[in-house]
Amino acid sequence: MSGVSTTQNGTGLYINGEWLETNEKMKVYNKFTQEVIGEAAVAKQQDVDAAIKAANEAMANRPLASHERFEILKRTAELISKHAEEIAQLIAKEGGKPLKDATAEVNRSVQVVTTAAEEAKRIHGETVSLDAVPGSENRMGVYIRVPVGVIAAITPFNFPMNLVVHKVAPAIAAGCAVVLKPASTTPLSAIYLCNLLQEAGLPKGYINLVIGSGRTVGDYLVTHPDKKMITFTGSPYVGLRIKQNSGFNRVTLELGNNSGNIVHSDANLDLAADLLAKKAFGSAGQFCVSVQRIYVHDSVIDSFTQKMVEATNQLVVGNPLDPNTDVGPLITLEEAKRVEQWIQEAVSEGAEVLTGGSRDGVMVQPTLLKNVNSSMKVVCEEVFGPVASIIPYQTFDQAIDLVNDSEYGLQAGVFTNNVNLAWKAAKKIQTGGVIINDTSSYRADIMPYGGIDKSGAGREGPKFAVEEMTDIRMVVFNVQDEK
Ligand code: NAP
Repeated sequence: MSGVSTTQNGTGLYINGEWLETNEKMKVYNKFTQEVIGEAAVAKQQDVDAAIKAANEAMANRPLASHERFEILKRTAELISKHAEEIAQLIAKEGGKPLKDATAEVNRSVQVVTTAAEEAKRIHGETVSLDAVPGSENRMGVYIRVPVGVIAAITPFNFPMNLVVHKVAPAIAAGCAVVLKPASTTPLSAIYLCNLLQEAGLPKGYINLVIGSGRTVGDYLVTHPDKKMITFTGSPYVGLRIKQNSGFNRVTLELGNNSGNIVHSDANLDLAADLLAKKAFGSAGQFCVSVQRIYVHDSVIDSFTQKMVEATNQLVVGNPLDPNTDVGPLITLEEAKRVEQWIQEAVSEGAEVLTGGSRDGVMVQPTLLKNVNSSMKVVCEEVFGPVASIIPYQTFDQAIDLVNDSEYGLQAGVFTNNVNLAWKAAKKIQTGGVIINDTSSYRADIMPYGGIDKSGAGREGPKFAVEEMTDIRMVVFNVQDEK
């Protein structure tokens, strides 16, 4: 593979089909051992300018036909699959993600790129019956979908491959060129992906990689006038800032959540406890839809709590590279300390630790709390760590109100075997997704995924991202009556 040393050593920006070194480097660490595993070149403003220029030139000079987009993406999916093991190791090291989750992430990435390839062939509009309007009897109308233009893609650390392809692959499917800025803590997976896109034959300028801190490189990219769209996944704080600074660019925001889940009296408690424990603490709770608030009906709370504690205590905490590990480190020591501080604050306000509660360096034990209240940070804010709380309720309506008592609205989970209650939850819970008999964390990458309120705006999933990344263009013919 061309540039294989780049994937291994993690250096270089990728601009206009060329790998570029810069004087400033940032070190990339194994998040468990804290060993340096690579370096990445840091972009300057002129590199961002060059990347955006290359992207615009690519779209202007070398438009891609749908079949070319399909073929390039199909080859990319095959290459990701071919290198799956190596990429999973890389994600486990740079992201601190347990190898089994990292492997699942790579497999999901293959699916995302494959689905985006298929979507490239399904971009179409429809006819519009203009003669339905008096005075337009001779008009024929059709709308088509055209690429929105150059897209800035800004991605978080917690899915360094899958959330990158969730932006890059639909953009290519839509015929758009991309300037990608990955998270500073996890740039190596993005570098790897750019190598694969290059090998798959993506023409120069369609993918450009700029690495550097969000406050400098990210901010400059967001405010740059020569692009048309920003697609961002990350924290609400940064998302709001991006929205405020984005001018007339289209913006999609995939932000956080403090996911609520309901366990009703008629639920399968074994299933609920097993899934909720895995999805509260797997990958150390660093999922946007990680289980955080668990509302349990009074009548089953004792039995559920016992099962949940048991399921939690079975999770293996340790080195992400060990194939048995379920829970790895937090992304940085600062994050681990913050999570520990939120636990201690809740305890000082009356919360009780059912299991866990301690920290050792970057490792926070899976922590289950009870006796919490809705003003504690571990309940009302996004923990983004291995902490969940069990909270009682008396009626199903009350449980729905409690789930809705949140500034966020990404996904919720509901465990019940009563179809009427399930349907009521689906209609009344105010989130982008309601998952019945599974947790808030469930996601198949083909589905429309995204939130409301502080969880963001717009939807991902290749079909839906392609819609966001294309503009509708209406074409009207004034048909003359020729003899
Ligand atoms: P983050 O701190 O918001 O960073 C996300 C990206 O934004 C990084 O590339 C970051 O660069 C960049 N950035 C930071 N400040 C910026 C600025 N002023 N202008 C432009 N870009 C800027 O988020 P994170 O800690 O990486 O990820 C965790 C968050 O992502 C959580 O809130 C989680 O819920 C959310 N998330 C949401 C979804 C979803 O689909 N809804 C999925 C995954 C994660 P640096 O790395 O250099 O700071």
